[in-house]
Parts: sequence; structure tokens; C-alpha cells
Amino acid sequence: MRSIILSLLVFNIISIFSLAQPISKPILARTQGVLPFFEYGPGDDRLGGAKMTYMDTGVLVRVIDSLASDYIIELAPNLKAFVAKSSVRFETNQSFKPYYLSGNWKTYSDDRFDYITIAMPDRLPYRSSMQVNPNRLIIDLFGLTSNTNWITQTGIQKEIRNTWYEQLENGVLRVYVDLKGSIHWGHSIYYDTISNKLTIRVKQAPPKNIKQLFVAVDAGHGGDNSGAAGDISGKLEKELTLLYAKALEKELKKAGIKHVYMTRTIDTTLSMPERIKGLKDTMPDLLISIHFNSSSVDTVKGTSTFYRYIGFRPLTQSILKQMKGIGLTEFGNVGSFNFALSGPTDFPNCLVEVAFLSNPQDEKFILNKKNPDKVAKAIRAGIKDWSQQ
Ligand SMILES: [Zn+2]
Repeated sequence: MRSIILSLLVFNIISIFSLAQPISKPILARTQGVLPFFEYGPGDDRLGGAKMTYMDTGVLVRVIDSLASDYIIELAPNLKAFVAKSSVRFETNQSFKPYYLSGNWKTYSDDRFDYITIAMPDRLPYRSSMQVNPNRLIIDLFGLTSNTNWITQTGIQKEIRNTWYEQLENGVLRVYVDLKGSIHWGHSIYYDTISNKLTIRVKQAPPKNIKQLFVAVDAGHGGDNSGAAGDISGKLEKELTLLYAKALEKELKKAGIKHVYMTRTIDTTLSMPERIKGLKDTMPDLLISIHFNSSSVDTVKGTSTFYRYIGFRPLTQSILKQMKGIGLTEFGNVGSFNFALSGPTDFPNCLVEVAFLSNPQDEKFILNKKNPDKVAKAIRAGIKDWSQQ
């Protein structure tokens, strides 16, 4: 026993020591901690490296190099990713297998979701992307080799039209999920807590009636994170986001929506992982996040909406259209936005930058006591237009 512990210790010391040098042989590791994520590169601007995907914990990765705060991992022969060092732990008692074979597939539904499950030989990494016209999900499973000789599809799935796959290249099994609906309502990918079964869960369209939607409202910033400040008034963004978020909550309830989830209702510090965890635990039909913009150039002004995934763009376009109708100029509809809260794929989400706190005209609009209600009405109308298409 003692000698095993000793040899593990020595192995650890050797692997940690060797990471100061270039790594000559991949080292096996597993993801850990709260909401680990992979990035395409080590970018260090305000929003960090371009995010590839959030990842489950306990997922096997091949560490091939080490940077200051990141490890570089190899997902496929031609695809690397970057992961925070704190998000992985080394796996000392396993070595890489030459291949990992896929097992049985199954599809089924309940009254809120359609499911695809795949028996996996280990917890292997994945990423997903959305396509529109036609609506489709593409999920890449890394390190996996197809050994699936059929897919059993039981019953009628409400949202999924077809599930199929191809071995794209060595170590990349690509899953295609063709969707029936005109709206991407979100999807989640996760492993079972005990087994290595991977689940792709696709959200079904909720009833068309806006009253039955479950809407999450996020007041940006809060507590220690005060965000931008009004150039003239000095008013803090965190106070304004809460004011406008509460006006939106009131407006949604007035429209008959019973189920509204607020990420915060008081001035409190809330980290991005905490916000995302709260949202994933409650699983709303959609998320609206409220912010106010700021620029070093005081002539820059206007309202804008942001999305990360193309499937969620229509929601942000509908809201922007309504926002332009209440006396705000258009700054734009911003896509591929690398912001943490735009990252979850589980539900459609729209970040609204109401206007610029750094522009005198916009600041006057923002501070006008009538405008939280006006903005709330515009957002509610945008949600309605989008959800009923
Ligand atoms: Zn902000």
C-alpha cells in the first residue's frame, strides 16, 4: 500500500515537474470543478479566449502542453483546445487506450424533452453547434470510434425529426440531430452521474401561448461588480440593471406569465458560474439578461442585442426591432458574442444592452423614470413576436 502511494507521489511529482518543460508524451487528465470549459485559444481580452464549450466533470482529456494558466489538450488529431489548469486533475492510474468504441443508442421522449442516449466506453469530450434553415444540431464526440450498428428510435419524438451519425475522421464521431420546429429551444449534453452514458437532451417547443412561457430575467452585475457608470449622473450599471429587470418581471407578470425566475432581486455579488448554475437548475424556456453599454467615445450610442449561437439569433432580432420603436437608435445585433452568460445552449438567451451610459442622450433616456416600463414592454413584445413565429 505504502509503496503504491509512494510511486503515485513520485509519478505526480514527475508529471508536475515535466509540465514546466514541453510535454513529450500526452498525459491523461479529467475535468473537475464548477462548470469547466474549453477554449479555442488562450486569448486574454476582456471576454477571455473564444469559448468552445462547457464540459461535464470527470471527462477524459489528453494534455499535450502547458501554458501559464492553461493546459493545451488534444481533442482530435487536428483539433486542440485550451482548458484552465484548475479545471483538470491528472489521472495517474489509467493509460490511453488505442481506441474507444461507441455502444448502444436509444431515443425517447417525455412531456418536455426529446432524448438521445449513447453508451460510451468512458466519459469522452464533446462539443455542439447549431444550424438554421433547416434547424439542426451537430454534436462531435471526440476520441470515439463507431461500433454502433443500429439506432433504436422508439415512439414519435416531438422535436427531433432524425438522428444519424458518421465517423467524420479518426477519433471524431459526428452526430446529426435534425429538428422539426422553426425555433431552437435549446439542448443540453451531459453524462449520467454513475455510468458513462451520454445524453443529448433536446427541449421541445413549449405551448405557443406566451402566458405559458417560463422566462428568466438576469439583472447584470451586482454587489462588488458595479459595471459601467453614467458619465454625467455617475449612476451605477448594477442599480439600473436591477431597476429595469424588476420592471420587466412586473410587465411579464402583467401579461399573464406566471413563471418568472430572477437571477437576483437585491444588490448582491453573483459570479457567472453561480448565475449559470441557478439557470441550469431551474431550466427556463428563455433568458433575458439586462445590461447598459459604455464606450470611451461619448458619441457612440444606441440599443443592441447579443447572441452567441446562430439558433438563438431570431429572439435577439425580434427584441431589437421592438427596442428601436421606443425612441432608441440602433447600435446593432451582435453575434458570436463570447460572453459567459451567452454560452449555455440549454435555453435561448438574449443579452440586451439597453443603451450607452457614456452617451449624454442615451443616459438621459436611461434615467427617465418612464423608460424602465417602456423597455419592459418592448422586450415583452419582442418575446411574443419571436415565440409565435
Ligand atoms: Zn454590463
